[in-house]
Amino acid sequence: MASELTYRGGAAPGSASDGGEYSPKPSKPLSWLTRAARYAAAEHRPVFALAGMLLAAALFSLYAPSASSSDASSGRAVSAAAATFSHLSSLPSSASSLHGSAGGKVPLGLRRRALRVLVTGGAGFVGSHLVDRLVERGDSVIVVDNFFTGRKDNVAHHLANPRFEVIRHDVVEPILLEVDQIYHLACPASPVHYKIGARFLLTSTSEVYGDPLQHPQVETYWGNVNPIGVRSCYDEGKRTAETLTMDYHRGANLEVRIARIFNTYGPRMCIDDGRVVSNFVAQALRKEPLTVYGDGKQTRSFQYVSDLVEGLMSLMEGEHIGPFNLGNPGEFTMLELAKVVQDTIDPNARIEFRPNTADDPHKRKPDITRAKELLGWEPKVPLREGLPLMVTDFRKRIFGDQEA
Ligand code: UDP
Repeated sequence: MASELTYRGGAAPGSASDGGEYSPKPSKPLSWLTRAARYAAAEHRPVFALAGMLLAAALFSLYAPSASSSDASSGRAVSAAAATFSHLSSLPSSASSLHGSAGGKVPLGLRRRALRVLVTGGAGFVGSHLVDRLVERGDSVIVVDNFFTGRKDNVAHHLANPRFEVIRHDVVEPILLEVDQIYHLACPASPVHYKIGARFLLTSTSEVYGDPLQHPQVETYWGNVNPIGVRSCYDEGKRTAETLTMDYHRGANLEVRIARIFNTYGPRMCIDDGRVVSNFVAQALRKEPLTVYGDGKQTRSFQYVSDLVEGLMSLMEGEHIGPFNLGNPGEFTMLELAKVVQDTIDPNARIEFRPNTADDPHKRKPDITRAKELLGWEPKVPLREGLPLMVTDFRKRIFGDQEA
């Protein structure tokens, strides 16, 4: 596990053009140094860089005799050096002690080395579930969230944990943190280059397939997106994020992973953001009619959030860049979904038809063959099992203590 930190897997330049799979490439032990030097020169901060290197060297010497293996500490040192270049004062003084304590309590060889993991958008719906799993497995987690859509409540249960930190910050602004892995869930922008030496996982979306002409969708399908439609800011934004991620991988040798997430539901989902599962569940609980858009024959595939989190973690830990479809292949029309919601919450819930939104994809279903074969991942929770778990959470949040 620890040796994966120094392994810089990735595609050979030019091998990504067909959207196919990438083969790992041999590591370049000193490539971080040249990249770091280029960065420092470009930023006209050689003096700070020098000071940073000295500080990093000092940190190194503190780390060197520690119990962790040399390959384990090298990944951290890369990030430490990077962090000191331009923000000497921002190097967290607690950083080494966090890891020291995580490693100190555990006898060598009994457990994997704890990582420090950054989750952007970690106070959101999916992010907070991912944070739960990372904390549970012993990692230190830093959440960066601007709370536009994320909620402090979602991570409040970790606040007393010394291995957990939360920073209110918008990811469109650079921030320098010392980490081993980055899960980039925050939606806006993609400043991938601000982390040297960490593995960067982009959460892209099934929306990159647009209104697909191929069904189910495989990762090699390039999609059918309206570039000027009402949904295109999201669809094309994510497509551009994939492009940038791959360009940084090819051009700057950044270690990247790309997940294409299909419709996901579960506890902590926003109640009123208009997604179909949250709408139907909230409507049924409030005794309002279920609003079915269009004729209700359009399809989606609904994945329970814990399955997604497992998929994201398998992708981050594995050696394959992707992109990987992460979704549940179980396909439902919106009318079928309404029936499941009726069966789960209220058999008498009425259905009300509403005009559909523009450019709504007619069908969507992931082909997950690639994820099964290369990540050993597939979803485990069917809709009829996952939905009741979400209903319990929504009931509490909508009615508070009255009916909880
Ligand atoms: N939808 C619906 N009723 C609602 C909200 C959405 O019938 O109250 C439909 C919507 O038209 C779309 C599907 O549900 O066909 C999924 O919409 P959602 O916004 O949840 O996900 P996305 O379209 O991004 O896959």
